[in-house]
Amino acid sequence: EGPVLRKPEWIRVKAPGGKAYAGTETVVREHGLHTVCEEAGCPNIGECWTHRHATMMILGDTCTRACAFCNVKTGLPSGLDTEEPARVAEAVAKLGLRHVVVTSVDRDDLADGGAKQFADTITAIRAASPGTTIEVLTPDFRGKPGGIETVMEARPDVFNHNLETVPRLYLSIRPGARYYHSLRLIEEAKKLYPEGFTKSGLMVGLGETREEIMQVMDDMRSAGVDFLTIGQYLQPTRKHAPLDRFWTPEEFQALESTAKVKGFLMVSATPLTRSSYHADADFAQMKAN
Ligand code: SF4
Ligand code: SF4
Repeated sequence: EGPVLRKPEWIRVKAPGGKAYAGTETVVREHGLHTVCEEAGCPNIGECWTHRHATMMILGDTCTRACAFCNVKTGLPSGLDTEEPARVAEAVAKLGLRHVVVTSVDRDDLADGGAKQFADTITAIRAASPGTTIEVLTPDFRGKPGGIETVMEARPDVFNHNLETVPRLYLSIRPGARYYHSLRLIEEAKKLYPEGFTKSGLMVGLGETREEIMQVMDDMRSAGVDFLTIGQYLQPTRKHAPLDRFWTPEEFQALESTAKVKGFLMVSATPLTRSSYHADADFAQMKAN
């Protein structure tokens, strides 16, 4: 175990609180929902929840995988809450979101990996809030035939699946996943619904090199990824994967410029970028262009 690196000043964030924040919290609690904002201990929660942007986490709060970077609880989840899609849809309507991100834990215990729950959630949100654009950030449905087809039949506006890190680091960082499987999943999503957008993301600070990131960007573009997010990895606890280093804001800017040259339609690369950070504003701006 190495020393815990001190956070540079560009990582410091606003503490959560205030009336608007509490309003978002109330809606989340009243509907018995989980959010990745809380479960993953996201540093942006103060800012996002003040703007009512909560990223819904469906399929419970317990994940069947244990990625080395992730703070979500791991174990054997129990059952499937079939009322959840309706509650998510109600909460989205109450929050008045113009764009919502729905993600989940991995459910390797379910025959379809939770694909139908995603589809039902999309359908329920669409019925309750027809003007809201819907982004799903899904598991890889590895070994779950028909999973991606089920999700894409529900026509999400944005299909998001994070590659998270470079292939060399998969075994230690994402042991349950396979790099090329994840890449093919996004390619498949694009083929199944070409009118929709695809999105993927990476964390830096785990020991990857700039060259490796360039290669991942090229792989993403070949797989048809439209939007890219890159953010700084922050070690949630000392038990999680060690932090190699903090990339500087200038390095992030350089990654963003390169990604734009490679043809991504939307790129967000800053230390505090997360998959769902500013997803609504980015999507609105992209559509306006
Ligand atoms: Fe939630 Fe995403 Fe904002 Fe983090 S960046 S608080 S996960 S909406
Ligand atoms: Fe966390 Fe997702 Fe990995 Fe589960 S699959 S441990 S929720 S990153």
